[in-house]
Formats: sequence, structure tokens, C-alpha cells
Amino acid sequence: SPERSVALVTGGNKGIGAQIAHQLAAHGMTALVGSRDPARGARAVADLRVAGADAHPVVLDVTDPTTIEDAAADIRSRYGRLDVLVNNAGISGRPDGQSPGLADTDTVRAVFETNVFGVVGVTEAMIPLLRRSAGARVVNVSSDVGSLGQTRDPDHHMSRVPAALAYGPSKTALNAVTVQYAKALGPDGILVNAAAPGACDTDFTRDSGFVAPRTAARGAAVAVRLAVLPDGGPTGGFFGEDRAVPW
Ligand code: NDP
Repeated sequence: SPERSVALVTGGNKGIGAQIAHQLAAHGMTALVGSRDPARGARAVADLRVAGADAHPVVLDVTDPTTIEDAAADIRSRYGRLDVLVNNAGISGRPDGQSPGLADTDTVRAVFETNVFGVVGVTEAMIPLLRRSAGARVVNVSSDVGSLGQTRDPDHHMSRVPAALAYGPSKTALNAVTVQYAKALGPDGILVNAAAPGACDTDFTRDSGFVAPRTAARGAAVAVRLAVLPDGGPTGGFFGEDRAVPW
């Protein structure tokens, strides 16, 4: 159909998410840029439009059910369906120097609230719209640190990442959620996969004082590949740049 596909990217106002929106637009899609802050969303959309993208802002805080409902209603009235959902919004959780163990429970809760329950809330709200697409794709932006296989493999470099209770386990849970949605939505022809973008230079890594080797654009490409999979492509998988990542 000559109609553009419609894609929503959560946390699309900066970092990897903004690059995902840019690349999906370059694939000919209408990019809906989710942002919890309206001004940051508007600025990102302006930048994307200068770069030639058909981009539109959507106010969306993945931890706020009201903005989720409003975003779904807005997309429904404007487009009637959603073809691509990229659950990209994520937080790392502040490093905690106070607690005697690995983290205080408030930090763990906050990270799971965004990285796991936020994805569930957004996905649940968008499922009716995804079902109205001819073949929707859902991409959950996960992380190598969510891979239990890599974390437990003494020969893998991920096993040397220091122990942390909030972020890695939140992405492991996100991977589990991905598998369940893949199972549930398979009969509708909806492909659901998790992406490991690799360590990218964004505010996310900069704020934790970590110098990441990849550009946000390169990390975004991992998610975009899963967003444009052909019919019959893989579902319920966990993929990095050029390989499946062990669970
Ligand atoms: P950034 O911090 O640059 O961007 C994160 C985005 O998520 C921002 O747009 C931020 O919005 C948004 N966000 C955070 N909380 C919410 C919320 N409650 N509702 C809506 N949006 C929210 O990080 P990255 O671009 O690096 O990360 C994007 C994703 O990639 C995350 O899921 C992260 O875990 C994952 N990832 C990143 C890696 C890296 O090396 N950078 C490696 C592996 C995975 P705001 O601007 O308002 O804060």
C-alpha cells in the first residue's frame, strides 16, 4: 500500500531512541516520537523534520497510565492503527552508595517501573492498534547485561561487569516479557523481539562515567532491523548487531 507505516518510539527524544525514529523515517515510515517532556519531544521532532523525516510528537511517560491512554487514543484517531512499536525508553537507576547491599529497593522498583512495567503498560495499550496493522512489529530495547548466559559465562567479557541489582535484572525481565508477548501475538502475525544495541555513546552511558565505543545510530540500527523484519521473520528472539544473544 502507498500508505506510510506508522511507528512509535518511546523515549524518542534523544539518544538511541531519536536515532531509531530517524532511521524508521528513512525507511519511509511516519515516526511518532514519544517523549515524557513535551518541549524535549518538540525539539527532537523539529530536528528530525530538518533531516527530512515525517515525524510527530507524542507525549508519553511510560510510567504514567494517563499519558499512555491518551497516546493510544491519539494514534487511533489519527491513524487507526500502529505498525511498529519500539519500547526504547529506559533508565539505569542511580548508583547507590547508601545501602549495605547492592541497591536500595526504591531504586530497584523505579528501574523496573520504567524498564519492565512501562513496557507492559505501553504494549497493552497499543495491542488493539497493532492488531489493526497488516503485520506489526514490536521491538523491546534490552541490553547485553540482561543476558544471563553471558553474565554466567566466565569466558565472556560481560561476566566481568560489576554486580548490579536494578538495571541488568530489569532487562532480563524485559526479555522474559518479550518471549511471552511473542507467544501471545504470533497468531496475529505480530513479530516481537528484544534488541541488544551494544554500548553506545549517549547521556545514559555518559552519566555513568562510561566511555562507550559505538554511536547511538549504530545501536539504533540493531532495533531498526527488527522493526522492519519481513513476514515470517523471527519472533521471541534476542538479537545484537550480527548475532542472536544468549538468554
Ligand atoms: P538516554 O538516556 O540517552 O535516553 C533515554 C530515553 O528514555 C530518553 O528519551 C528519556 O527521556 C527516556 N525515558 C526515560 N524514562 C522515561 C519514561 N518514564 N517515560 C518516557 N521516556 C522515558 O539513553 P539511551 O538512548 O542510551 O538508551 C535507550 C535505551 O537503550 C534504554 O532502554 C537503554 O537501557 C538501552 N541501552 C542503552 C545502551 C547504551 O550503551 N547507551 C546499551 C544497551 C541498552 P528524557 O529525555 O525525558 O529523560
